[in-house]
Amino acid sequence: MIFEILAEKKLGDEKRFFYDNQTNALHCEDGSQYRYPDMQKSCGHTARNANQGFDEHHPLTKSRHVRVVKIQLGLSCNYACDYCSQKSVERPKETNAKDIGRFMQMFGGLEFSQEKGLKVEFWGGEPLVYWKTLKPLAHAIAQKFEDWSIKPQFSIITNGSLLTPDICAWLYAMGFSVSISHDGPGQPVRGPDPFEDGAKKAIVLGLYRMLRPLGRISFNAMLNGSNISRKAIYDWFVTFTGDPSVPLGEGSIVDAYDGDGLAQSLQTKAAHFEFRRTAFNDIYASAGQIGFGGILQKIDQFTGDVLSQRNARTVGQKCGMDQEDVISFDLRGNVITCQNVSAIDQSPSGVSHLGGSIETIEQVQIKTATHWSKRAHCNDCPVLHICKGSCMFLSGKYWQASCDNAYSDAIALFALAFEKMTGYIPKMIYGDHLPKERQDIWGTCMEHKEKSKKVIPIHIATEAPVMKEIDGTNETNSVFEKTTVKENV
Ligand code: SF4
Ligand code: SF4
Repeated sequence: MIFEILAEKKLGDEKRFFYDNQTNALHCEDGSQYRYPDMQKSCGHTARNANQGFDEHHPLTKSRHVRVVKIQLGLSCNYACDYCSQKSVERPKETNAKDIGRFMQMFGGLEFSQEKGLKVEFWGGEPLVYWKTLKPLAHAIAQKFEDWSIKPQFSIITNGSLLTPDICAWLYAMGFSVSISHDGPGQPVRGPDPFEDGAKKAIVLGLYRMLRPLGRISFNAMLNGSNISRKAIYDWFVTFTGDPSVPLGEGSIVDAYDGDGLAQSLQTKAAHFEFRRTAFNDIYASAGQIGFGGILQKIDQFTGDVLSQRNARTVGQKCGMDQEDVISFDLRGNVITCQNVSAIDQSPSGVSHLGGSIETIEQVQIKTATHWSKRAHCNDCPVLHICKGSCMFLSGKYWQASCDNAYSDAIALFALAFEKMTGYIPKMIYGDHLPKERQDIWGTCMEHKEKSKKVIPIHIATEAPVMKEIDGTNETNSVFEKTTVKENV
């Protein structure tokens, strides 16, 4: 689909551009293109799943030749963060160290290559809750690949609260990369702050000093409706670590997996516009000094994708779980949609997350996942190449709220990349089916009335959804109206 973009350099210096979200071609009114034909197209997506698309009726498949494995140790955690994607997931009976022998037999049936490399991610819940399983499991896997000259890369994401000096020394010795989940100034929205305990803070900072020179540690922070500034998060971690180049991971706005996720989403049009302006200004005004390398990489990658005219056909899902050689499974060998779900859980549309077994990997069918090309609006979305279709197993109001969040997140990065290429900052983007709140990027060119809807989050321990709407329809959680508006500005 071709979008007309009105952009401004300085007051009164406006220019119109045209952007095709399928071919990724960007050109001016006079037809001249922003293109760098010799630039290598970024790819990395496995052709079979990408080309065919996938949904419940055309399930995602997996390959025996794996490159990334995400081992789900169990979903228990010593905290209960408010918008955790795993919070509402049904939990199977726990596995333990006794399951490792059988697991390693099944794991040995997969095929690995030193040339492609191997990443092994150990996932919880909180993976250190499973310390008695994690430790012997990591040793068994390390032993399996002891002949490799380039060792598999081990990683965990932890809340940091269960770290001890012994565990830190072990993580260092085993070559782990460690990401510590913490939202900086927004942590109180998420839940309790383990760093308020002086002893825990000292252990975390000790691990940081050990792994930072090796590039093996980051703090992972999520944005949400109450924590919208990447710069504020960066400043908080600079103060916490004393390191102006502190590496920060994640950095996107939350997806809505349940009622709490909906409540932490951007609730109003005004909130969306404020978020977009903050996201743009944080990076533009600080010349990229925000610590979130992955976010800056998205801007650079999109710039490269436009200049090399990378076609949308090669774009996979944002998390990479649609790739054939990226697989998530538990210690029973159950292949699941991703590490954030369980083999006995279902997607919001009622489909089992269990896709099969690693023992019969060729027969695995993941039916929960929907490729962006099968979604109603992704094909016609200007930020498709940055957003990549939000979470592939969400549906209904959860997917709609996540899509709204993702649009506001991605359009600011789109504008930053656009400005890098053209010198102009886009302010309007016209396209059929694009609601006017999406056309008017910063909320400055048109009038926007809020939907007359009030939303109250209600915490219910056992069931989702946990959202009650006082007024209006409950068909969608979108704060955007689905209109086709093109206005002169
Ligand atoms: S913002 Fe929404 S419509 Fe656009 S690509 Fe992302 S999920 Fe699809
Ligand atoms: S499918 Fe991907 S985006 Fe969705 S929860 Fe799993 S890892 Fe996250």
